[in-house]
Amino acid sequence: MWELYILRPDAAKALDDLMIRRVLPRYVKIVRSDAIANFQIAKKIEFKPRKNHSVADLWKIHIKLMKEFRKNREKFDKGITKIGKLREPKHSLLDLKIRLTESIIGYCELCERKCHVNRMKGEKGACKVGTECLISSEFMHMGEEAHISPSHTIFFMGCTLNCQFCQNWSISQWHEAGYQTTPEELAIRIDRRRKEGSRNVNWVGGDPTPNLLCILKTLKSCEVNIPVIWNSNFYMSEKTMNILNGIVDMHLSDFKYGNNECALRLSKIPKYFNACSRNHLIATKNTEMTIRHLVLPNHIECCTKPILKWIHDNIRDKVIVNIMDQYRPEYNAHEYPDINRSLTREEIKEAINYAEELNINYIT
Ligand code: SF4
Repeated sequence: MWELYILRPDAAKALDDLMIRRVLPRYVKIVRSDAIANFQIAKKIEFKPRKNHSVADLWKIHIKLMKEFRKNREKFDKGITKIGKLREPKHSLLDLKIRLTESIIGYCELCERKCHVNRMKGEKGACKVGTECLISSEFMHMGEEAHISPSHTIFFMGCTLNCQFCQNWSISQWHEAGYQTTPEELAIRIDRRRKEGSRNVNWVGGDPTPNLLCILKTLKSCEVNIPVIWNSNFYMSEKTMNILNGIVDMHLSDFKYGNNECALRLSKIPKYFNACSRNHLIATKNTEMTIRHLVLPNHIECCTKPILKWIHDNIRDKVIVNIMDQYRPEYNAHEYPDINRSLTREEIKEAINYAEELNINYIT
């Protein structure tokens, strides 16, 4: 744990911060091993598969087992039941989620692009992700937010967006090949990193969404109790949101644009704001959340302010917002004059003043 004190001294006390404890109470408890991570609870909920189950049957069973999941989680949280006393069933809610994810990928609509390709048969959609576990890197990240660091970040290849200013473009747009691993190998690394002091496992990329199957299979093999962070652009489909419920302990979203037009021009995706805002509403019903907003130059009025206002009007008390000022032009940003520079001091100040005015829980 010595790295924590050298590289991010504020991380040591972050979990005692009153705002963090108020907004992310369960996350803090899991980090401290005072509560059980969702995916470990999902492994204890029995699923009885039958050969003649249709996909529609499986979704109905999912609704039923999620009710059981919530009841059990409440009992664990109140200390009424100890998780060690429950046997691990042969097939669990986590296995059911894996089956459902395979069915979604067979006509892929993991994200709102809804490419409808059969990835189980080798076809690829806009993200160019297959069914194998292809990652760029995994390491102990000391530079995430103070309450998240040290974070075991796993960077997947491929992304559902095509952001023209992407800071991770070599990963998201396949300018590197990545290396192939397996769920079992990844699980061993997660268990080892937890023992070395990681506060969480942080699925990122690119974007984790196209890689959901690999992630669920990895969690099935994980033995340690560790919070799961879904670090994503939040362009998931509603079906994916359903699968993530009961798996993710803290969402870490990247809320980029305050309208659909900027998203279409700069990330080449339709209906971004509709999908992203809907997913924030779904996520905050079930899961704790930190939101990142990278302020873009010349986008204060069209993006930063509408996003902060939307958060204020809809989910203010349920989230922590990180207002990020580290934008630099990368990838194709030079082709877009509005974003082809760093932020000015005035722009940063304006974003922070607006968050203050709205009384949002924010960090910088
Ligand atoms: S995850 Fe990839 S293949 Fe699936 S819908 Fe999204 S972009 Fe298309």
